[in-house]
Amino acid sequence: MDILYVTSEAAPFSASGGLGDVMGALPQAVKSASPDDRVSVILPYYKKKVPESLASSFKLVTEFRFKYVWRDSYAGIYSAEMGGVTYYFVDNEQYFMRDGLYGEYDDGERFAFFSTAVVEFLFKMDKLPDVIHANDWQSALTVVYLRTKYYDYKPFRSIKTVYTIHNIEYQGKYDLAILGDIFGLDDRFRPVVEYDGCINLMKGALVVADRVTTVSPNYACELRQAYFAYGLQHVINANGHKLSGIINGIDTAYFSPDRGGEIAFPYSLSDVRDGKAKNKAAMQRELGLPIRRDVPLAVMITRLARQKGVDLLTCILDELLGSDMQFVILGTGDADYEQTLAEIAGRHPDKMRALFKFDRALSKRLYASADIFLMPSRSEPCGLAQMIACSYGTIPVVRAVGGLYDTIVPYGREGANGFVFNNYNAHELLFRVKDAISLYRNPEEWGKLITGAMTTDFSWDRSAKKYLNLYRGL
Ligand code: ADP
Repeated sequence: MDILYVTSEAAPFSASGGLGDVMGALPQAVKSASPDDRVSVILPYYKKKVPESLASSFKLVTEFRFKYVWRDSYAGIYSAEMGGVTYYFVDNEQYFMRDGLYGEYDDGERFAFFSTAVVEFLFKMDKLPDVIHANDWQSALTVVYLRTKYYDYKPFRSIKTVYTIHNIEYQGKYDLAILGDIFGLDDRFRPVVEYDGCINLMKGALVVADRVTTVSPNYACELRQAYFAYGLQHVINANGHKLSGIINGIDTAYFSPDRGGEIAFPYSLSDVRDGKAKNKAAMQRELGLPIRRDVPLAVMITRLARQKGVDLLTCILDELLGSDMQFVILGTGDADYEQTLAEIAGRHPDKMRALFKFDRALSKRLYASADIFLMPSRSEPCGLAQMIACSYGTIPVVRAVGGLYDTIVPYGREGANGFVFNNYNAHELLFRVKDAISLYRNPEEWGKLITGAMTTDFSWDRSAKKYLNLYRGL
């Protein structure tokens, strides 16, 4: 099989969030799981973003000009090899030589150009891919173009298409007036992308793709409801027969408690109790909290956004901190949340710290030193933090939503690795954290939960096999 991923970002070349991480890891995992398949990834060449150490190995594959809407446009295709995967970079400095990846006034045009360039590049390939896997709104048009304006070119019809929703909040919505001038689609194809009075690129891909996936099975179910689907529930339901969810993995080598140098006292499952206690003492010292081995330390590492359930936390924190425990939150985002959290921390100087910065190294030290991890999300397509917490033996307390429901098995069940509550209700969160704190006082039961957490398989291998099955099925 020959699989081509189309994406607007992929780590380590250029990544701004979850999509970049997934597109960095999934193609590599697919290649490892099935070495005989050819796996490639195509993305824009953001010349200001790609680290020089990587860009210096790029090779120019081809250059061509093509008609993008009314312009005669240039595309250069560069390539690099990594782990057996070929990465192609679409070069056009007018569109991609920018300071950021997105948020530009002409994003619609930039990614319409990108999608057109991808399809035009297919004409130059020795062999067409069997599967094209596009992601989020930025590459939705690749799939749309293959099934609309390029449909008359018969060889493209045998290419199967997969489209993945990583974040349904951003759908690529534009005024219908620019359908022809920017998106290069004439009126015959208007029904494909038209939705709710405007152009909706994600909707177009949902309609024409052979299969649609999202990043957890439970989120795939939730997307059928208005509450989660940001207006697309009708399209999701009408195309439900081709929708499925495959959970993301985490980089288990990168998020591993036995990596020396990153945390003060590396540990593994065999010495987890002792390792965590030492890291906790180091963290308490670092943050100026009372140094106590026996006190449970709860942490939350998150964007400070409504989606993450920060409201629930701020409702109950004062009450929760009445217990004998310590709490640290590391996050950036909404200024109102920062202020509220700083006020609460100010009332509990011996128990709480609120740290408002994005700091990977500190996040790892916190995962390693904490006992309990809070993730009371309002919605959560997949969620990585709960899986990372598990791999450090830090017990997650999560709301049963999206991927949290799929990954965290509640205490009391076979294979338990955390605590779960159902409703978006602050006291359900409070009671579940209190359950965790009381179980922490029972070393034998707590140890079983830690074993459950640290032995749950969150590797990409499992997910890669599921994607491979999907491609083979097509
Ligand atoms: P989302 O992608 O919605 O923000 P995820 O749980 O999928 O949530 O991924 C969040 C990732 O970002 C995790 O790896 C988490 O550790 C990390 N993270 C979030 N906030 C911070 C921060 N302030 N400092 C360091 N890492 C953070």
